[in-house]
Amino acid sequence: MSKVLLVDDSAVMRKIIQRNIKESGLIVHEFVEAGDGAQALEKVSANELDLILCDWNMPNMSGIEFVKNLRSLNLPKKIPVIMVTTEGSDAKKSEAKESGANDYITKPFTADQLRDTLGKYLMIN
Ligand SMILES: [Mg+2]
Repeated sequence: MSKVLLVDDSAVMRKIIQRNIKESGLIVHEFVEAGDGAQALEKVSANELDLILCDWNMPNMSGIEFVKNLRSLNLPKKIPVIMVTTEGSDAKKSEAKESGANDYITKPFTADQLRDTLGKYLMIN
């Protein structure tokens, strides 16, 4: 069973990512959604997650603040976090990595990019 948390303040973007994942043959049994970092933290405590895809710019709590908060919890299982964001600069990428993100996808992404990056964390049909 694989459960993936999609964190983005755009419901449309969450749907696009979900559709791309399904079409690319990546195996996900359940999607959980959150509209900002604070909601995402609640979902983390309420679910056994295998992977988190996280936007950067969101109200209430940004993606980077979420990652820092998540990593400071020191959970027994380190859930991989992939940033999916329009913030594509090298400075942002290193900030994400230093904060505990595992990977980075820049929007707009292609189906191949999504599949290649997520394929490191999920099974593919
Ligand atoms: Mg956003």
